[in-house]
Formats: sequence, structure tokens, C-alpha cells
Amino acid sequence: MSIDKILQYQEYDMKYIKLENELKSSQEAKKVMAYKQTGQQSIENLTRMNDVADHTMESIKKIIASLEDTGKQIDEINNSELKDCDEKQLDYFAKQLEKLEQKLEDAEKEILRDNRELSEINANQKKDFEQAAKAAKAYRIATEAFNELKKNMAVEANALMKEMKAIAQDVEPKLMERYQKVRANKRVPVFVPLVKPNGCGGCGMEVASDALNKLQENKIQECPNCGRILYIKD
Ligand SMILES: [Zn+2]
Repeated sequence: MSIDKILQYQEYDMKYIKLENELKSSQEAKKVMAYKQTGQQSIENLTRMNDVADHTMESIKKIIASLEDTGKQIDEINNSELKDCDEKQLDYFAKQLEKLEQKLEDAEKEILRDNRELSEINANQKKDFEQAAKAAKAYRIATEAFNELKKNMAVEANALMKEMKAIAQDVEPKLMERYQKVRANKRVPVFVPLVKPNGCGGCGMEVASDALNKLQENKIQECPNCGRILYIKD
């Protein structure tokens, strides 16, 4: 079985893989990823702060309800008919009023604290909104640059694919199938020469003698270690 054609195919395929890797590791691709992450981070922050704000608003609502209640109680005490009150009751009312006033004071403090918290959240949200908008714009620009690069590379990639398609017609289907299987496992190049006397040209491991014997016999043999296909270079 001649492997000349599949080796030729592999040569083009390696160029194709190199192109793909160049695109993946390009500055353009890295920028797209980075801005996408920044945007997502901003959205996460905004969502989280929204939850905190909701929580604080709930707390404020509760305080307001309790304030209204306390206010009503104070009114009740203040408006009660004094003529019906003896000294003991007056004393009791006075103490109740004192307690309620303390409650009002505490509530006021709590509201002030919640208010400060909301102001901080507001300021942070503004920052995050700005950051999200900036990231979205940068992401769009980076994506445009990435697509431009991809378009340019696609011209070369398509030319390679065309060559590969033509060569593939002269490759035995079973051999091509074996090639694609190893390639799918990202063991590239798939076909590697035996490094004499007994090393795998792919992984560098020593090839066991029974595999070596089969290699001599069949001209090609899977490396027992990495799964690439060994051949003997003339
Ligand atoms: Zn190997």
C-alpha cells in the first residue's frame, strides 16, 4: 500500500491546521474572548446589586410600615382623654411614649443606613452600566476585526481544502478513515516516520518489537503509545 498520497494530503492538512490554530490564538480572538468576559462580569455585578437593592428596599418598606404603626400608637396615647387618667396611667403612658420615641429614633437611623447603602449601590450600578456599555462596544469592534481576519484566512483555507479534496480521491478510503480517526483525537501529524532504530516520530517513545515487526511487514503500524501511524521513511 502506497502512502505517498496520504502523506501529500497530510502536508496540506497540516497547513490547514496551522491556519486554524493561528486564528484561534490570534490577538483578535483573544480580544473577543476578553471583552465578552468583561461584559458578562458587568451583567453579573448589575444583577447581584439589583438583588441587594431589592433587599434593602424591602427593609425600608418594613421600617416605614413599623414607623406608621408607631406613629399611630403615639397619636393614640397623645389623644387619650386625660381626665380619665390617673397618675399611674399617666406614668405608664409617659413610659410608653418614651419607648415609642426610641423606636422612631432607631428606625430613622436604620433608614439612613439603608439610604447610604442604596446610594452606594446606585453609584456602583452606574459604573457597571458604563463598563458594560464600553465592553459591548469593544466586543463589537473586536468581533469585526476577528471576522475580517477569519475572512482573509478563509481564502487560504479554501484553497488548501480544494487541494486536499483532489488528493483525497487517490487515497484508499480505509486509509483516509484511519487518518481522520487519529486526527479527530488531535494526534497530528497523523503519519510519523519511525526514528531509527525504534523511536516513534510523534511521541518519541520506544516502539515495542512486535509492533516493529508488524511495521516492517505492513509498511504502516499504529504507535502503541500515542496512536499515530508509523511508517518507514526511505
Ligand atoms: Zn507514538
